Amino acid sequence: MASPKGGQWSAYAGPVWSLLSRPSGTDTDAHPDDAERYDLTITPEFTFIAPPISINTGEAMVLKVPGDTPPPELVSQVSAAVARARENEIAKLVNDAQCAICGDSYPARYLLAPTVAQEVTVCPSCAFDGDLFGGYDPVRLAYDIDHLWFEELAMPAGWAAVAALLACAGGKTFVERLNDAGVLALPGTHWSDLSQLWIWLPPHSRPAALDGLGAGAGLARVVEAVEAAHPDLRERFRAHLAEELEQESDEDGRDYLVEQLWPAVIAYAVTLATQEQERPGHRPPWHVLSDSFEPGTLAGHFRQIGSSLDAHGLGVCFTLEVGLQVSAEALGWNVHY
Ligand SMILES: [Zn+2]
Repeated sequence: MASPKGGQWSAYAGPVWSLLSRPSGTDTDAHPDDAERYDLTITPEFTFIAPPISINTGEAMVLKVPGDTPPPELVSQVSAAVARARENEIAKLVNDAQCAICGDSYPARYLLAPTVAQEVTVCPSCAFDGDLFGGYDPVRLAYDIDHLWFEELAMPAGWAAVAALLACAGGKTFVERLNDAGVLALPGTHWSDLSQLWIWLPPHSRPAALDGLGAGAGLARVVEAVEAAHPDLRERFRAHLAEELEQESDEDGRDYLVEQLWPAVIAYAVTLATQEQERPGHRPPWHVLSDSFEPGTLAGHFRQIGSSLDAHGLGVCFTLEVGLQVSAEALGWNVHY
C-alpha cells in the first residue's frame, strides 16, 4: 500500500484503484493509524473502484470488502467483480464508427489516431498498417492509450498489444520521450515495466496456459504462463519459419527471432483472442496478419520512439507475423478467416 493520504491508504493495481480506510474516521486528513482520531479496534475496509480514474466516465465498479479478508479470497472477489463490470460495460457499447483502414465497427472513442492526421482513427489491428502514411505520432498514441486505460473499463483489449509493441521496441528511450512530451499527465508506469502492462484475458473459453489467471494480468505474468505451458514456442516459431522460407529461398541459417519483441507477440495473440470473444458478431481481429505489420509504418514509429530495431530487416516482421500465428495456434485459436 502506498503512503496514506486523506485518511486512507491508496494504491493502483491493473484497472483498479484500491482504498483502505477506517469506517469510523471523521478527520479525513489524519493518518489512518492515528489512535487519537480513529478507533483502531474497528477493522478497516477496502474499497475497490474501476476504472481507476472515473471522473469523466463514472464508476463501473465499486466493491467494498472487509480489510481482514484473506488475500486469496480478496483477489478472487476483486477479479470476479472486475470481470462482471467489464462485461456490463461492453454490453452497453454502441459501435458508432468505423476503422479508417479495415472498416470494422467500434465506438468512436475506442478508435485512435496513429499519425498526425487526427481524423484518421483506426482499430488496434490496423495501428501499424501500410495504408497509414507518414507523420507517425506514437507518443500521442501512447497517451491516447493511457487515457483509455485509466478511464474506460471496456476498452478494446488489443490496444494493450499495440502498447506492448511500442514499449518493447522503444524501451527506455521511448519512456524518456513520453516524459519529455510536455503533456500534463504522467505516462503510465507500464511503459517502463511490462509486469504492469495490463492484459485483458479471454473471458469465456481459455487455453490451459491461462487457466490460473484472473480477468486480466500483467504482461510479464501472461508471457510467463504461456511459455511455461508451451516451452517449445520459440522453437516452433523457428521451425515454422524455416519451413516457409525453404519454399521460396535458400536456407541461410539465420535466426530471425527478435527476442526484444517476443512479449509483444504474446500480447497480440492473447488480446486479439480476448477481442474475438468480447465482440461476437464482429469480424475477428486476426486480419492483423494480412499485412498490418508493415515494415515502412513500423520503421516510422520506431524512429519516433528511438528504437534501435531495424523494421526493414526481415526479423521484425517475421517475429510479429509468424510469431503471432504460431503462438495463437499453440494456444488453440484459429487465426484463419
Ligand atoms: Zn481496423
